[in-house]
Amino acid sequence: VVEIGTPERSVVTTCAYCGVGCSFEAQMRGDELVRMVPYKDGKANRGHSCVKGRFAYGYAEHPDRILSPMIRDRIDEPWREVSWEEALGFAAKRLKGIQAEKGRRSIGVITSSRCTNEETYLVQKLARGVFLNNNTDTCARVCHSPTGYGLGQTYGTSAGTQDFDSVEHADVVLVIGANPTDGHPVFASRLKKRLRQGAKLIVVDPRRIDLVKTPHVEAAHHLPLRPGTNVAVVTAMAHVIVAEGLQDQAFIDERCDAEAFADYLEFVSDPRHAPEAMEEVTGVPAETLRQAARLYATGGRAAIYYGLGVTEHSQGSTTVIGIANLAMLTGNVGIEGAGVNPLRGQNNVQGSCDMGSFPHELPGYRHVKHDDAREIFESRWGVKIDPEPGLRIPNMFDAALDGSFGGLYCQGEDIVQSDPDTSHVVAALSAMDCVIVHDLFLNETSNYAHVFLPGSSFLEKDGTFTNAERRINRVRRVMAPRARYADWEVTQLLAAAMGTEWGYTHPSEIMDEIAATTPSFAGVTYGLLEEKGSVQWPCNEVHPEGTPMMHVEGFVRGKGRFIRTDYVATEERSGPRYPLLLTTGRILSQYNVGAQTRRTANTIWHDEDRLEINPHDAENRGVRDGDWVRIASRAGETTLRAQITDRVAAGVVYTTFHHPDTQANVVTTDNSDWATNCPEYKVTAVQVAPSNGP
Ligand code: SF4
Repeated sequence: VVEIGTPERSVVTTCAYCGVGCSFEAQMRGDELVRMVPYKDGKANRGHSCVKGRFAYGYAEHPDRILSPMIRDRIDEPWREVSWEEALGFAAKRLKGIQAEKGRRSIGVITSSRCTNEETYLVQKLARGVFLNNNTDTCARVCHSPTGYGLGQTYGTSAGTQDFDSVEHADVVLVIGANPTDGHPVFASRLKKRLRQGAKLIVVDPRRIDLVKTPHVEAAHHLPLRPGTNVAVVTAMAHVIVAEGLQDQAFIDERCDAEAFADYLEFVSDPRHAPEAMEEVTGVPAETLRQAARLYATGGRAAIYYGLGVTEHSQGSTTVIGIANLAMLTGNVGIEGAGVNPLRGQNNVQGSCDMGSFPHELPGYRHVKHDDAREIFESRWGVKIDPEPGLRIPNMFDAALDGSFGGLYCQGEDIVQSDPDTSHVVAALSAMDCVIVHDLFLNETSNYAHVFLPGSSFLEKDGTFTNAERRINRVRRVMAPRARYADWEVTQLLAAAMGTEWGYTHPSEIMDEIAATTPSFAGVTYGLLEEKGSVQWPCNEVHPEGTPMMHVEGFVRGKGRFIRTDYVATEERSGPRYPLLLTTGRILSQYNVGAQTRRTANTIWHDEDRLEINPHDAENRGVRDGDWVRIASRAGETTLRAQITDRVAAGVVYTTFHHPDTQANVVTTDNSDWATNCPEYKVTAVQVAPSNGP
C-alpha cells in the first residue's frame, strides 16, 4: 500500500510518452507530485489514460537524475562536476574551436521529439542562427521522416489528415505496421469501441498483434506479410481496386492531378502487381489480399492508421505514398471517418518536424533554399541563414569519421542505444572533439560525451507538445526544475555562451515568435490555448479555431498527386547464412529505450527483452521456451531469452528494444529509406542459435 497523501492543488498538463497526447491533472502537495489523474476534458483522451501516463512518472525524482553539469577533456577521463557557467563556457569554447579549425559546417545539433515545440524551435535556431549552418536533425529521422516525405509529396503537408474523434465515424479501418494496443493504448481503446460497434478491421502486420483477435474484436482480414514487403501489398491492393473498377472516379477527377493519375493507372494496372503475382513476394494469400482490397474500397468510410512498421524500411517513403494513393483512389480523404493517420511514436514527433528540425526545412516545412522563407527568419534573427541543407544524422556520423565534423549538441536522445548499427555510431562519436549530452540521466551516448548538461522532465517546464492529430497541447510546469534550469533555458544559455543573446523570459515568447514566422501556427498563442484547452494546426486567419480535418475542399498542394510505387526488395533478405527476418516493436508498459519507464518501479512488468520465435523455427534449432539464444546479423550480435509463440510466422522473429543490456540495435543494419535515411529497423536478416547466456 502506497501512502499518497492529499493533494493541495492540481495542474493540467500533457503526457510525455506517446503521440496520443493525453491530458492529465498533476495533483501536487507542495512541490511533490502525488498522483496523475486523466483529465476528463482532455480532447485527445477524454478522461482515459494508459499505465505509462498514469503511473510512469517516478523517473522524474529518481536518484539516477544528474543534477549538476559535468565536463571532461577526454572520454576516458572521469567526469568533473562544475558550475553551469563553467560547463557552458567549456562547451562553447570547444565548439568555436572546431569551427575555427574545420569550418562553420563542422558542428551540429540533434533535437528530440520528447522535448517541447519551444525547446525544439530553439535548438534548430541554435544551429541556424548561432552555428550558422543547417546541421540540425531530429530523432524523427529514425521514425517518421518518411511520413514527412510521402504525405508532403502526395497531399502537400506532413501530417495526419484527421482527429482521433474521426475514428468514431469509420466503417472500415486498415491498420498497417502499427500495434496501437501497445504503442498508442488510449487510441486503441477508442478504435476497439468502434470495432465493437460493427466497423470492419483489416490488419497488415507480420505479427499477429492483439487487435487481430481480442475479446469482442476480430479482424475481418489479417495480412501476415513477409517483413519488408509493404509496398508490394499496398500496390497489389490498388491493383485490385482499379482492376475491379472500385475506385472513386468522381473524387479522382475533381480532386486529383489528372496527368499523375493517368500515369499511376497505367502503372498499377500492370498484371505484375496482381495479388497472385505478388503472393510469392509478400507471403500473403492472393485471395485474402483481394478480399481486403474490396473491403477497403467498398465498405464505406475507410480510415488508415499506420506506424513505424510502415516507415522504418528501405521503402518507408514509398509505402507512405502507396497508402496516400489508396485513400485518394477510394475518395477516403477530407471526410469524417476516413483519412490517412500516422500514429506518432513519441509525444512530440509531429511538433519536432513542424518546428524545422530537419536539415533542409525551416519551421513550417519551408525549404532552406527558398530565399523568401530564409528572409523571414533572417530579418527576425539578424543573421544570414545558410541556403545549403545541412547534414542528416547518419551524414553527421559519416562526416565525423572522415574528419570534417567534430561537435554535436544532442538534446534528449540516446543515439547510441536508439540508432541502428551501434558500432558505427560509437565510432563516429569517438571521433568527435566535443559531444554535449543534454539529458536527465547518464546514458549510452554520454559514455562518449565531453559535456553533460542536466535536463528537465516534462513536469519541470512550460511549453507545448503537438500530438499525432496536430493538436497543440499545453505542458505546464508543476514543480521547480531539479537542476536549476528548464531545457529551453539551457539552450538559450548555450547560445549566449557562443556569443548570441536571445532574451526570452518565458516559453510563451518563443511561441509568439513561432506564430510570427510560421503560417500554420500564426493564430497560436498561450492565451488561445488557455481559452480552448488545445488547438489543431493550421490555426491562423483562415482557421482561427484550428483544423480538425485537413484536405476537405482541396489538398494543401492543390490537386492530390498519385505517384508510382515500384516495389524494390530490401537487401535484408533471408538466405543460407541469415535465414530468419527480425522485426522489432514495443510493449505497453515500457517506452522506447526505457530511460523513464525502467526507472519507475510500478511499471517494470517486463524486465527483459525477449526474442519471439515460431515453434517450428525453435524446434529446428533445439531452442526451448526461456532458453538463451544468440542472434546475429551482418552488423553485430546479442544474446537474449527465447519466447516460443506462433504470434510470429515461421521465418520471422521479433523483439523489443527497451533494455540497454540487450542492445537490440547492435543487430540492426545501416540500411535506410531511400528518400529520408530513416533506418530499416523493421527488417534484419539474422541467424539464431542456442547460447549459454550473455
Ligand atoms: Fe501517455 Fe500515450 Fe498512454 Fe496517453 S496513451 S497516457 S499519451 S502513453
